[in-house]
Amino acid sequence: MKMYEKAPAKINLMLDVLRKRADGFHEVEMIMTMVDLADRLELSELKRDSIIISSQAGYIPLDEKNLAFQAARLIKDRYNVKSGVHIHLDKRIPVAAGLAGGSSDAAATLRGLNRLWRLNIPAEELQELGAELGSDVPFCVTGGTALATGRGEKLTPIPNPPQCWVILAKPPINVSTAEVYGSVRANQIAVHPSASRMQEAIEAGDFGAVCARLGNVLEDVTLKLHPEVQQLKEAMVKLGADGVLMSGSGPTVFGLVSKQSKVARIYNGLRGFCKEVYAVRSLT
Ligand code: ATP
Repeated sequence: MKMYEKAPAKINLMLDVLRKRADGFHEVEMIMTMVDLADRLELSELKRDSIIISSQAGYIPLDEKNLAFQAARLIKDRYNVKSGVHIHLDKRIPVAAGLAGGSSDAAATLRGLNRLWRLNIPAEELQELGAELGSDVPFCVTGGTALATGRGEKLTPIPNPPQCWVILAKPPINVSTAEVYGSVRANQIAVHPSASRMQEAIEAGDFGAVCARLGNVLEDVTLKLHPEVQQLKEAMVKLGADGVLMSGSGPTVFGLVSKQSKVARIYNGLRGFCKEVYAVRSLT
């Protein structure tokens, strides 16, 4: 038996850090949505009791460090499943980019194995399992658009933002999510983006207001460490993107664009700055 699952990338339309908690995690407020750039997972049932991960991408771990492996192990142990699985990851989402590629693979593994092994686990329970794997995994289990609070695992679904083009550009640098969060000083943040104002803009279907209200407090940290991310933002604005923001802890920068006629010019202009540029649709 074989199953396929898509694992889309996410972007943060807003990300605020409220405070550092006693358990070391940060209390956050984020509005996240999915874009049409996805890894593809092929899950094949194995009669023997093992979990095998393969991928065409040479740059991700294929052992127990892989989040898809961890997701498979978790669901298999928790539900006492005897058979095994081979998961092939066709990676398309750039790695360590702020696009939750690994988290989305983990979430797609939970969804796929729920079907493959006919476990009938309800979505909320899959999200609870996901929270054991990482803060972004519960959102990736159901996707759509959501307000995420707590350490990112408490979700309130909200409507999707108006459909638009999303141009993603990842500069060739590595950003450690842990390092970025480690450098944030919540009490020194001058301007906090507002989740409620972004939610209002989305609910009103007001594309201009969504663009105007984009905000991510992690930008200050990453932009200081990597000035090329700032240059990329400026280039995207100059080329005519309607709204521009860094996603998650970066370094990927995304631009929202309403008019298709602008997309090719922005895409081609950015290719002069970095090799990894994608023009995709937001997901509805
Ligand atoms: P987030 O936005 O949730 O912080 P990210 O997009 O910055 O995530 P990922 O692409 O998930 O980062 O990769 C982060 C690290 O996780 C990489 O260093 C990679 O080696 C490891 N990793 C484990 N499993 C996977 C996977 N299935 N796909 C990609 N990276 C993985």
